[in-house]
Amino acid sequence: MSYLQRYPHLLEIAYRTVHRLIYPWRQQLRPGSAAERAFIFLEKMSKGPLFACTMCGQCILHSTGMTCPMTCPKNLRNGPCGGVMANGHCEVRPEMMCVWLQAWERSKSMPIFGQDILHIQAPLNNQLRGTSAWINDLHRKEEMVPRGWLG
Ligand code: SF4
Repeated sequence: MSYLQRYPHLLEIAYRTVHRLIYPWRQQLRPGSAAERAFIFLEKMSKGPLFACTMCGQCILHSTGMTCPMTCPKNLRNGPCGGVMANGHCEVRPEMMCVWLQAWERSKSMPIFGQDILHIQAPLNNQLRGTSAWINDLHRKEEMVPRGWLG
């Protein structure tokens, strides 16, 4: 766990601030552009050390207590599974705490996005792996959610 994950409220403020800053520039921030390459680099450099990000391309950190769901050994986008042990650890890797338990606890300290943990997340589109989650959020929403998911 990174130090900053103890302060999920600060992280959600940072998330909202970045979102507000980049949204007006969405026409310049196109998929496949130099801007996307820069974002990929920045996301690796920031979210890698902070959240053990593996660049799934469909970031839902603000919906999961600023806890990356891809660090769950089962890669669950919705959790927890039925295998959490009585001490809150993972059945696959007993040395680690359940990622989803951490997500639930941290989301309680997030007044802005904390309720989003109740949303059911769409399955991951593996074709977006390695792309920029920020650019995808601006331009590839229809690729992030399977057809019929919202309807
Ligand atoms: S949800 Fe995806 S993009 Fe976000 S931190 Fe986890 S692996 Fe990275």
